[in-house]
Amino acid sequence: MKRGSLFIISAPSGAGKTSLVGKLVESQPEIEVSVSHTTRPMRNGEENGVHYHFVSKDEFEDEIKEANFLEYAEVFGNYYGTSHKVVEQKLAEGVDVILEIDWQGAAQVRKLVPEAISIFIVPPSINELRSRLTNRGQDADDVIARRLSEAQTEMSHYLEFDYLVVNDDFDTALSQLQAIFTASRLTIEKQQTAQGALMADLLA
Ligand code: 5GP
Repeated sequence: MKRGSLFIISAPSGAGKTSLVGKLVESQPEIEVSVSHTTRPMRNGEENGVHYHFVSKDEFEDEIKEANFLEYAEVFGNYYGTSHKVVEQKLAEGVDVILEIDWQGAAQVRKLVPEAISIFIVPPSINELRSRLTNRGQDADDVIARRLSEAQTEMSHYLEFDYLVVNDDFDTALSQLQAIFTASRLTIEKQQTAQGALMADLLA
């Protein structure tokens, strides 16, 4: 059976990554998003096992000791990590897997899986980012400044990625993402297996 491909998608918060990935997966059901482990508290509307596996710091540290993570990192004071076993199982079943992770995790995965395809998503302007990171006048200036500076730290790593998508118009960004996924399935390496019978026939 053909092995699935591994995709990494990173973005600063405010880039619209989660909405884009949600729509992408809806339109291409053969792709699955890996559910990470985190020690951060659950937010309203989130479900354990769906958005994240919410675990305690002790549980997370045990998993680190047992080498259960493909990658993990501390982001904004909380641990986040990707289960090695689950990702490996999906890839072995031929499923394409997306890791929605930060730049530190992306760097770790790139070392372990050099063929992983990585995509970075950015907002269309600094003003747009600032307004997306602001809750309609409800945040103090220092909170907004901190969010902006964290976003800029994340974005400073964009050159480490294979693709850059600017999320100005949502539908355009979505079709660009879809194009990356479609093209990745059409490489000779992938098609050699998928179209093996056709090619043998054509060349007989
Ligand atoms: P949030 O708490 O807003 O859901 O996510 C915060 C940040 O953590 C985002 O940049 C997200 O990409 C990153 N993140 C989520 N899951 C993982 C993971 O499994 N590993 C790493 N390294 N980062 C993650």
